[in-house]
Amino acid sequence: MSGKDLEKALLWETPHIAKEAPAQLEAAHAFCEGYKKFLDAGKTERECVTEAIKMLTAAGYTEFDENVAYKAGDKVFWNNRGKALVAATFGTLSPEEGIRMNGAHIDSPRLDLKPNPLFEKGDIAYLKPHYYGGVRKYQWTTVPLAMHGTVGLKTGEMVDIVIGEDENDPVFCITDLLPHLAADQNSRKLGEGVKGEELNIIIGSIPFMSEDEEDKVKQPVKLLAMKLLNEKYGITEKDFTRAEIEMVPAYKAKDVGLDRGLIGAYGQDDRVCAYTALMADMETKMPARTTLTILADKEEIGSVGNTGLNSDFVLHIVEDICANQGNANLRKTLRNSLCLSSDVNAAYDPTWSSVYEERNSSYIHKGCVLTKYTGARGKSGSNDASAETMTKVINMMDAEGVYWQTGELGAVDVGGGGTIALLVAHMDVDVVDLGVPILSMHAPFELASKLDVYNTYKAFCAFYK
Ligand code: MN
Ligand code: MN
Repeated sequence: MSGKDLEKALLWETPHIAKEAPAQLEAAHAFCEGYKKFLDAGKTERECVTEAIKMLTAAGYTEFDENVAYKAGDKVFWNNRGKALVAATFGTLSPEEGIRMNGAHIDSPRLDLKPNPLFEKGDIAYLKPHYYGGVRKYQWTTVPLAMHGTVGLKTGEMVDIVIGEDENDPVFCITDLLPHLAADQNSRKLGEGVKGEELNIIIGSIPFMSEDEEDKVKQPVKLLAMKLLNEKYGITEKDFTRAEIEMVPAYKAKDVGLDRGLIGAYGQDDRVCAYTALMADMETKMPARTTLTILADKEEIGSVGNTGLNSDFVLHIVEDICANQGNANLRKTLRNSLCLSSDVNAAYDPTWSSVYEERNSSYIHKGCVLTKYTGARGKSGSNDASAETMTKVINMMDAEGVYWQTGELGAVDVGGGGTIALLVAHMDVDVVDLGVPILSMHAPFELASKLDVYNTYKAFCAFYK
């Protein structure tokens, strides 16, 4: 055998999709048009749930009803408090044969408003945020911000807020120093370049002026800002204490590069897996095993709360399914189930190559990335999928011609991170991380490859098949 043949038979290199299968570009471009719309429609976990329910309802899903005996091919969803969502397609086999779970998250790093956020200083009205998730604070200044959220009124009514998304809307902004005066700030460490309490968001600059000259108010700029919010939404300052308001980048998803190979947008971690998983579940018609597409909240702050995967809500849904499907045995069901913890990984960045180990990084345009373990310092805090789980998932993808690669989250001891995988494993379910490589992860504008997005969708279709 020649050296070339031997090399082909024995060695392995992850192919670059655009080089090996350029014909996929057309399908990837087309698939990502819908993805970009999903990103624009869902900039908060609540908006993602609303948008997902619209998509699912149009595809024939109905809200799960324990009084209905579902049969194979039936499609249902569970709405967890408007902030997390689970969709399922019933399979031909009993749940005891195992179900196919796929968990993505729909919360993204952002700036949440504090409970008492509105103040005036130097004739400018500001909102005070407390950042949510892993945010590099300096990246959030001088970026147009939109306000999204929900406010509770004293009547108990909830009012949804969106300002900054319509072409004609104003936006909001955090200032930074001009270079001429930044000598002191420049000598700070980058992580402290902009501190948490320096993230003050400008919401107004014009004072309220009464027609009566004697009618002076203490903080007229703050008052006018509140008056304008009141006119639009009927809210008062006290209502902020009953609110969840998230400040997010105001721009829409865009193609990046002359060849349009990449998508740039806010919140691709992890709405890229949420969208591809939803599309795959909708595409699945008569699966052998029941599918469970999970869009979870709170992953970015440790999956806490009852809409995060530390909660038993998914376990309760599996109980719902077992009870509905001839009282299937829950423990057997969990033990035989397989889950993809669908989340993004750090794509190799040539500009910042020193934090990656080249042979074990994921790359843009090489397909979805299978991450055996995350964690830090000796795999601590990771799930570390078994060889058997890796075998099952890899063989499923290979059988359907999915482009996939492996990847670690950076070089050993450089950093690390976690996903929902260990929480799924806690239920006695086999699980491995799979998702899309991302450049500038957690930045207000993250980049992903259209080919990778498309192949992640294909991987999820193969998984549900
Ligand atoms: Mn994530
Ligand atoms: Mn993240």
